[in-house]
Amino acid sequence: MYEDNMKSYIYTLGALVTGVGSPLTFAATHRQHHKFHDTEKDPHSPEHIGWYNVWFMNYNSQYISPRLIKDYLKSDFQKFMNRHWYKITALMLLILALIDIRLVCFVVAPFSIYTFHGSSAINVFGHLKGAPRNSKEVLFWNPWDTKHKEHHEWK
Ligand SMILES: [Zn+2]
Repeated sequence: MYEDNMKSYIYTLGALVTGVGSPLTFAATHRQHHKFHDTEKDPHSPEHIGWYNVWFMNYNSQYISPRLIKDYLKSDFQKFMNRHWYKITALMLLILALIDIRLVCFVVAPFSIYTFHGSSAINVFGHLKGAPRNSKEVLFWNPWDTKHKEHHEWK
């Protein structure tokens, strides 16, 4: 459950370098995935939209109940960050580039690439056979995240 506090604010600002969208959007997609994994209502099921679309985050657009993210929707901070996520990201990149373009190339870009492909690897290999599964294929990107089946069973 999300709640506003200094740690949440710092993590949210840190997520700007991940390149995978706002925490509110991520929570909505992730919770929808957990509630309906490997069905038509799963936004990123390799069985239903193909591994390529999952890997490149061309997710299945669908209605996600606001009830799934009611904790985030109580937060004015999260709603503001979600509404302006890409503008804030562009501003952060501009400021870093004006300080030193190497900050964008060698600090932000590696984090974005790592997060993008790491989460894609989990979403593809963790569901290759139409159900949550533990996968050794993700060892290269996420050695601590090979237990995806347990991740789904954890309440
Ligand atoms: Zn999953």
